[in-house]
Amino acid sequence: MGQSTARQNAINAVTSWSMDGHHPSLKETRKPLRELFGVNVFSDEVMRNRLPEHIYKALSKTIKKGAPLDPSVADIVATAMREWAMERGATHYTHWFQPMTGLTAEKHDSFLAPSEAGSAITEFSGKELVRGEPDASSFPSGGIRATFEARGYTAWDPTSPAFILENPNGTTLCIPTAFCSWTGEALDKKTPLLRSMDALSKQAVRVLKLFGSEATHVSTTAGPEQEYFLIDKNFYFARPDLINAGRTLFGAKPPKGQEMEDHYFGSIPERVLACMLETEIELYKLGVPVKTRHNEVAPAQYELAPIFESANVATDHNMLVMETMKRVADRYGLQLLLHEKPFAGVNGSGKHLNWSMGDDLGNNLLKPGDTPHDNAQFLIFLAAVIRAVAKHGDLLRVSIAYAGNDHRLGANEAPPAIISIFLGDMLQDIVDQIEKGGAKSTKAGGTMTVGVSVLPTLPRDPGDRNRTSPFAFTGNKFEFRAVGSSQSISGPQIVLNTIVAESLDEIATALEKGIAAGKDLNSEIQALLPKLIAESKHVIFNGDNYSEAWHAEAEKRGLPNRRSTIDSLPDFVSPKSIALFGKYGVLSAREIHSRYEIFLENYKKTINIESQLTIQIAKRMILPAALRYQAEVAQAIANLKATGATAPKTQTALLSELVETIEELETATDALTEAVDEHAEGDTFAHAKYSHEKIVPAMLAVRAAGDKLEGLVADDLWPLPTYQEMLFIK
Ligand code: ADP
Ligand code: MG
Repeated sequence: MGQSTARQNAINAVTSWSMDGHHPSLKETRKPLRELFGVNVFSDEVMRNRLPEHIYKALSKTIKKGAPLDPSVADIVATAMREWAMERGATHYTHWFQPMTGLTAEKHDSFLAPSEAGSAITEFSGKELVRGEPDASSFPSGGIRATFEARGYTAWDPTSPAFILENPNGTTLCIPTAFCSWTGEALDKKTPLLRSMDALSKQAVRVLKLFGSEATHVSTTAGPEQEYFLIDKNFYFARPDLINAGRTLFGAKPPKGQEMEDHYFGSIPERVLACMLETEIELYKLGVPVKTRHNEVAPAQYELAPIFESANVATDHNMLVMETMKRVADRYGLQLLLHEKPFAGVNGSGKHLNWSMGDDLGNNLLKPGDTPHDNAQFLIFLAAVIRAVAKHGDLLRVSIAYAGNDHRLGANEAPPAIISIFLGDMLQDIVDQIEKGGAKSTKAGGTMTVGVSVLPTLPRDPGDRNRTSPFAFTGNKFEFRAVGSSQSISGPQIVLNTIVAESLDEIATALEKGIAAGKDLNSEIQALLPKLIAESKHVIFNGDNYSEAWHAEAEKRGLPNRRSTIDSLPDFVSPKSIALFGKYGVLSAREIHSRYEIFLENYKKTINIESQLTIQIAKRMILPAALRYQAEVAQAIANLKATGATAPKTQTALLSELVETIEELETATDALTEAVDEHAEGDTFAHAKYSHEKIVPAMLAVRAAGDKLEGLVADDLWPLPTYQEMLFIK
């Protein structure tokens, strides 16, 4: 009898899985989309129908233009919201927020309030809509909240619509909220995002005004393409590393990996497709505009892309996407893996963050126009982004720095850790011409005159033309491709919005000055653009970002190459960073320091969990299996010898290889245990750096010995589901 029962049971369960009984929402599958989409959302349409006109108008102004909300409006909105939710079966409401854990949190309250007579009446007032008081002490604050001051509060974000979460046993009204300390400091990912959107809007409107636009508000837009893995739950439960760390800490490369490239856009297995369909239905009900689904490069890897929305809503929706995918996958016996690198040696998962700016008149500000006037405006916004990334690429890098993404960035299938911009040949040519146009030695014919020339039609990048770039212009938006699959897209957008706000501020200031001095806008732009480009062009790179040559070239250009989380995070607390975020009111110095602490803690904790698991799996699963096999081989040799025959060299060689590799495993495990037991002296950074420099390599050594044993030990003794099984048995 094989000892590895968990693994064998998993295989049996997977192969006998059937679709029977897994059509819970067949009725809904057949419903037309318009009957499904947004049914669980307290949407604009619902508000228009249910709120008195003047209230609806006041609220709309807040939602669309970021105007402050009159508190008297809240009570009326709360009543309408409660009635709507109760009609849909809701018994509870929760303030739904995004603390620094990177997940979402909820604190449920009943609509019922005790009445004087002791019976319960339903109640939910403006006060409860606008403010909640969850116990903040259980969420990371990075030192902002002293332990005796455990209070934090949640504040309604009317710009992201409330929604109803369904559960077979009841439904809950969820109210998107920001989460702050009583001293007003942000404890979450939403507050600074809203502040950064505001900062960008102010500066962008200043620039638009110069072009004669009547726009009063600019919002940033986001469309995150989400990559993920789905594997059978039975395999998952047989892998303590997947359960506790979200990634495999052991596992030899399978004989068939992604070499055949037969998975990408291949047909989707029936069970997975059924799961995707149900996920989409659930997301439609929540008003999430899911658009495409397809297989990704790696086996068992997939992608889901929504239609872009305003940044804040897109961020909330991406959190809902990740949660809904996980919940629905459960129903199909599948486990969702959002980790950036669940399987070493196999393609990792990212989240391509498509980003742009749009005004309240419906114009995409990164869309090249048809007229010279529009193009001048487009080029200004484009230059603002280029300049922002050139100046603050280090901060964009910080926004994607955490343990999981360390496995992906620079791993020759994801963008490198060097932040550069891809423009494409045509736009590059235009930018080159503009730069020349401003130089003293203007070559006749070869330059582009802003406000006069019409741009050629730029090709829309289908997304694959230069997959190696971390930050690519794709026709009418930028695509930040270095974002990790599991992370909230809030952080990267906070940085993007703030650095672009700064660029726009400087541009507006320069142009306003010229115009005040009586100069003409086009000539001012014609003078400013070449300067901006000359200052920033070192960040533009259209070649292969994976190549060695680029690493050398980038170094020559002085672009930072922060290879790991630990290399990158200190840039967050640099004077440049503190001045920037402070100037635009996005994060105070105290908030930056608290976040820095949280990020370091998080890194240290992740490595700590992984190292404990590595030790546990090595000692309690791999070593016993290897020793059993060693005994079997030794016994076989002894049996032969007992018959008087000499054991063949190959068998004694196998035995020695086993003995040696087992020793390697034990030695490496001991070394890791020692490394884990020691500490670095000093602050959180010193601790995190120690984890990176001492514990990570020690973990890799244990893994190397473990993976070697996987290639030696009898298959029926091997305790862990293999890469082959997890990725290919569906
Ligand atoms: P591509 O083929 O270049 O990838 P798609 O139209 O498929 O373009 O878009 C990819 C993602 O980019 C989608 O999630 C889409 O919603 C998003 N996107 C498109 N336009 C914008 C925009 N103006 N702002 C933000 N995201 C956008
Ligand atoms: Mg794309």
